[in-house]
Amino acid sequence: MLSWSIKLFRIRGIRLEVHATFFLLLAYVGWEGWTDARGNGLVWSLLAVAAFFACVVLHELGHSFTGRHYGVEVSRILLMPIGGMAEFDSLPREPRKELLITLAGPAVNFVIAGVLWWPVTRLPDVIYFYTPAGLLYQLFAANLVMGLFNLVPVFPMDGGRILRAGLATRMPYLEATRRAALVGKVLAVIGIIVMLFWLESVLGALLFTFILMAGASEYRAVQRREQHDAEWRKMLERYYSRPRVPPPIIDVTDRDPPR
Ligand code: ZN
Repeated sequence: MLSWSIKLFRIRGIRLEVHATFFLLLAYVGWEGWTDARGNGLVWSLLAVAAFFACVVLHELGHSFTGRHYGVEVSRILLMPIGGMAEFDSLPREPRKELLITLAGPAVNFVIAGVLWWPVTRLPDVIYFYTPAGLLYQLFAANLVMGLFNLVPVFPMDGGRILRAGLATRMPYLEATRRAALVGKVLAVIGIIVMLFWLESVLGALLFTFILMAGASEYRAVQRREQHDAEWRKMLERYYSRPRVPPPIIDVTDRDPPR
C-alpha cells in the first residue's frame, strides 16, 4: 500500500514522495476552508497544510542528515496524511547513535517553534484564522505539538525508539525492542480508546491503529533479522571452528616506523 506514491523531487539525494492518500487530505482541508470562508478560507487552509508539511519534511531531514553523519543512508522520505516517514537502509544497533538520530527530528520542531516564538508573542490578542498572523500562530503551535507528540513512547514513533535505545544499553537489542513495542502497544490502545470515546476523533483513532500495526511489524522485522544473524553465526562457527590451529604469529617489527 505504501507504493501508491508520487515522486516530487530530491533533497541532497533523498527522494521526497507523497502518498496518493495525501491528496484526500488536501481535498478535505480545502473543502473545510471553502465552506468556512470561501476563497480566502480555501487558500489559507491549503497554505497552512503546505507549511505544516514543510515542517514535517524538515523533521524527517533532521533524522536523515544525522543518520548520514553516522553512515546510514535514507533512500526516501514519504509524506502521508498522518505525517512523514524517513526510510533508512538500516539502523545502527548502537544505542547512542540511534538515540541521536531519533532526537534530531523533534529537535528540528523545537528549533522552528523557538524561532517563531518571538514574532508570535508580538501578535495581537485576537487574530483571524485565515491571515498571515493566523498561519504564523498555527505553525508555531503545530511545531510544538509535533515535537512533543513524537516524544510519547509509542514504538515506532520517536519516543518509542528513544525508549528502546535506553533499554538496549542494558539488555539485548531484541529484548529491548520487545519491551519498547509492548509499552507502545499499551499506550496505543489507550490512545485509540481516548480518541474514540473521549475526543470522538475517528482520525485520531486511525492514527493510533496505524502506529500499533507499524510497531508490531517493526518488532517482527527485528526478530527475523536477529534469527537470520543467529543462523549465520551458527553456520560460521560450524565451518570455521575446526581445525583448531593456533593463529599465526606475524612479526611486524620490521614494518614499524623508525623511532
Ligand atoms: Zn521523527
